[in-house]
Amino acid sequence: KPLDLSAILEQVVDDVKMEAEENGLEMRFYSNTMPVTVMADARRITQVFINLLTNAIRYTMEGGKISVAIEDKVLDRNAVYACVSVTDTGIGIPPEELAHLFDRFYRVEKARSRHSGGTGLGLSIAHHFVRAHGGFIRVASEPDQGTTFTVYLPLVN
Ligand code: ATP
Ligand code: MG
Repeated sequence: KPLDLSAILEQVVDDVKMEAEENGLEMRFYSNTMPVTVMADARRITQVFINLLTNAIRYTMEGGKISVAIEDKVLDRNAVYACVSVTDTGIGIPPEELAHLFDRFYRVEKARSRHSGGTGLGLSIAHHFVRAHGGFIRVASEPDQGTTFTVYLPLVN
């Protein structure tokens, strides 16, 4: 079904903003194009962004910032995508861990994130759903600086 990714994101950001603020984090949503139409299952795509935003909140210390930005008509390898990036100023991920990040039950340095009690499934689920929609996820991260996850979904023309 065609759906407006922009509207989905607005809703998700709205839903988690309170939790971010309670943790001393600023959360912003940047969008200059509306609507951004993709063929997707609303519940699954909502879950993808809940997982990414929950991580951004969990792995960013007080005073940090989380920004969500949507862009359409992003060209990559001869295809056109809607693109959503979730950027945080959190603890980051060491380069050698990036390759395993989307594996089921994988968590970086268990001791460090012990307090958060996650299961290590959030990213594998997000990855699985996005791929099922013909898209992909990229990650760029620097330890102690922050992380950006970018979700690419095929655009409906
Ligand atoms: P769950 O999501 O199942 O509750 P989880 O958050 O540990 O548990 P994932 O969401 O799959 O699992 O993330 C895997 C690991 O990747 C995390 O344990 C964490 O170490 C790392 N990670 C994920 N997102 C970030 C981020 N934004 N900043 C830093 N590390 C991250
Ligand atoms: Mg998670």
